[in-house]
Amino acid sequence: MTDTDNSNQLLLRAASASVLVSLLLIALKGAAFWRADSVALLGSLTDSALDFFASLINLLALKAAFRQPGKKHCPAIIKAQAHAGYALAAVVLAASVYLGWRAFWQIWTPVPFEEGFFGVAVSVFAILASLSLLTYQKNVIDKTGSATISTDRLHFLGDIMLNLAVILALLIATGAEIPAADGIFGMGIAAYVAFSAVMIAVNSRDMLKNKGTGVIPELKK
Ligand SMILES: [Zn+2]
Repeated sequence: MTDTDNSNQLLLRAASASVLVSLLLIALKGAAFWRADSVALLGSLTDSALDFFASLINLLALKAAFRQPGKKHCPAIIKAQAHAGYALAAVVLAASVYLGWRAFWQIWTPVPFEEGFFGVAVSVFAILASLSLLTYQKNVIDKTGSATISTDRLHFLGDIMLNLAVILALLIATGAEIPAADGIFGMGIAAYVAFSAVMIAVNSRDMLKNKGTGVIPELKK
């Protein structure tokens, strides 16, 4: 196995780890939202869905690129990846508008809900999972210098803040019985999700602009 093969394997494994972790978080957050009808939890679930599709696109692009050794630039793959990114950004932006609308009503006419504790436990688990993923990815970035994984990492750092916001929202809404708090934190999370969608779109635009100049950074070598 050459050094490049090794580094490709590491990148694929890191990208797969992101896909698996977000899939697990979707299942857990889905169950938590089913128990407690919280806007903050719904926002957190939406973000994990975004994470799942974004890392899946990433993984598929890497796989396709590694299948064509020798070709340093793969315009077709980059184009497909960018268009998938645009589609994802559009869907997530629409979802964030819906989240904002629900958050607004939860502030205006707060509806109390119970069973927030499971959501708190899931969010604590999500923080631990994000931290493990970040440590693992740091390791892979040190070995490969991958920009794709670096972008992914930045987002998972933001997710730690998001999960802390969900924990506060649930504790204040169910513990202190101020359900409007769920709407206020939910609004912030809707904004974060919208921002993430815009970043995906900007990233896709940059990929198309630099088409053919080796935007899949791993292939520059
Ligand atoms: Zn996320």
